[in-house]
Amino acid sequence: MAIEINQSELPLVVVVGGGFGGTSLVHKLRSAPARIALVDRTNHQVFQPLLYQVATSSLTPSDIATPLREKFRNQKNTMVFLGEVNAIDPVKKMITVSGEQIPEPYDYLVLATGVRHSYFGHDEFAPYAPGLKTLEDAEILKDKILMAFETCECQLEPTAHPELLTFVLVGGGPTGVELAGAISELARQSLATQFRRFDPTSLKVIILDGGDRLISSFPPELSDKAKKHLEKLGVHVRLRTRVTKVDDEGVWIGGELIRSKNVFWTAGVRPNPIVEQLGAPTDKGGRILVNPDFSVPGFPELYVIGDAASYPDRKGGILPGVAQVAMQQGAYVGRLIESKITRTPAPKPFVYFNKGNLAVIGRFYSVVDSMGVRSAGFFAFLIWALIHIQFLPSSENRVGTFLKWLWWLVTGKRAGQTIVNASRNVMKRLS
Ligand SMILES: Cc1cc2nc3c(=O)[nH]c(=O)nc-3n(C[C@H](O)[C@H](O)[C@H](O)COP(=O)(O)OP(=O)(O)OC[C@H]3O[C@@H](n4cnc5c(N)ncnc54)[C@H](O)[C@@H]3O)c2cc1C
Repeated sequence: MAIEINQSELPLVVVVGGGFGGTSLVHKLRSAPARIALVDRTNHQVFQPLLYQVATSSLTPSDIATPLREKFRNQKNTMVFLGEVNAIDPVKKMITVSGEQIPEPYDYLVLATGVRHSYFGHDEFAPYAPGLKTLEDAEILKDKILMAFETCECQLEPTAHPELLTFVLVGGGPTGVELAGAISELARQSLATQFRRFDPTSLKVIILDGGDRLISSFPPELSDKAKKHLEKLGVHVRLRTRVTKVDDEGVWIGGELIRSKNVFWTAGVRPNPIVEQLGAPTDKGGRILVNPDFSVPGFPELYVIGDAASYPDRKGGILPGVAQVAMQQGAYVGRLIESKITRTPAPKPFVYFNKGNLAVIGRFYSVVDSMGVRSAGFFAFLIWALIHIQFLPSSENRVGTFLKWLWWLVTGKRAGQTIVNASRNVMKRLS
């Protein structure tokens, strides 16, 4: 069924993607004399930095996501549409959503469609090494992790299949590090007392990374501290290690096989297909090389922002794919479009304000590199917790998450240890 847009003389601004970049842009346009159509293939904005907590049962999906329709309920110039944008004709300014063309050309189009996993040309690894990008991914990982323990408890010889309790993270960036610490802690702190026939703390968590240090976006001393803390949590860190294959047996490093039924891909990303389809010039990661105002070369009314855009920083590099970059770019392009619509002066050229970098490793330990402060430990954890609570997409998320964290920190009990599709997972285990 085609999407119908409310008819009026006002210009039509289509925003594809209701993540950090898209929602910040739509919010900026809240007083603009325009019709804004926000299209997303999910009905919610998800706070990706806490996905790993859903995957490891500390939080539930509704704690870190908010429905887009609810978020913009008071913004009368905005229509929210659930659908996947499959085609864009930037010459005719037409877009196709879920197979049907929107009947009216857009005046401005903003793509804030983020990224997906990249297996670096080895898409055949995907079935054996799921990644973590969406709520659906987080639920899949959570089921896989919990089912590994459930399966051991049911075995005649619970310890006969160490590959079930071997968890391998391919990629030692923030997601790999956070997930590794959280899986280890899930077993050691919460599951340890819940099983009777084997010891959940006998699990093995391994991080593999091709570089010579973890979380390479942080200064080297914080990478070292993160590694030491992970090792304290029982995580094995293997650096300068290139994965050559992932299959149903596990992970291959050349001729060496690490047997594992739980391999998770935390290594690379590339833009979603709709961005690739534009055929515009890209960097080597597939991100669009946008103009200084985020427009796509040759198409002044088409913008790309957030993880899908390649934008230079002041040191000759590229701005990283993080939430604060996407949000600042969204706000900037929002102001720019409003100035065009209202024929007022354009904002000054975009300058990124870097507020710093944070990563958490298990309970009570974080690394922070922010505005001259470099810290690791409990103080950094408090900063991490405060900032994450503050940036959750709605006040319901903030209150709910705060209370669940408090309960979890005090009692060790987790809010999300439910396997919704247990019967389907048991069938898979038996087949
Ligand atoms: C596990 C994880 C942890 C992270 N941790 C941190 C962190 O601690 N700090 C930090 O700053 N950043 C973190 N990031 C990165 C941060 O989440 C991203 O940089 C940010 O989300 C990028 O915003 P965006 O608007 O470009 O894309 P996104 O927020 O990813 O939003 C893209 C939206 O586009 C929609 N979409 C995609 N294609 C289509 C289509 N064809 N049609 C319709 N809709 C479409 C998607 O459904 C999605 O809602 C993390 C990311 C992940 C995955």
